[in-house]
Amino acid sequence: MYNVALVTDEKCVAKKGCRLCIMYCPEANTLDLNTDRMVAEVIINRCKGCELCMVVCDAAKHMAITMVAVSADGSLMENAGEAAELGQAYSG
Ligand code: SF4
Ligand code: SF4
Repeated sequence: MYNVALVTDEKCVAKKGCRLCIMYCPEANTLDLNTDRMVAEVIINRCKGCELCMVVCDAAKHMAITMVAVSADGSLMENAGEAAELGQAYSG
């Protein structure tokens, strides 16, 4: 099991010009602007789970990115306890 970044669309302020996570993601073509919905979007199968995007988004007080565990079959385990613990580690 590993973690990937997930953007909560309702919290993302990309429509106001924020591109922080997109600028900081070290992986090419992994985190980009979805120009249809005007939110940042993670390409799940390219994300390395480094958490940089979440750190910069949280630092800007947007809190739009969470780390989500991916199970062995590739499905996202949203609200899984393990992902929540990782997020809390950064808030303290
Ligand atoms: S840093 Fe956060 S608010 Fe800004 S574009 Fe990325 S997900 Fe959206
Ligand atoms: S966790 Fe790392 S690799 Fe994944 S989208 Fe965020 S910055 Fe990019």
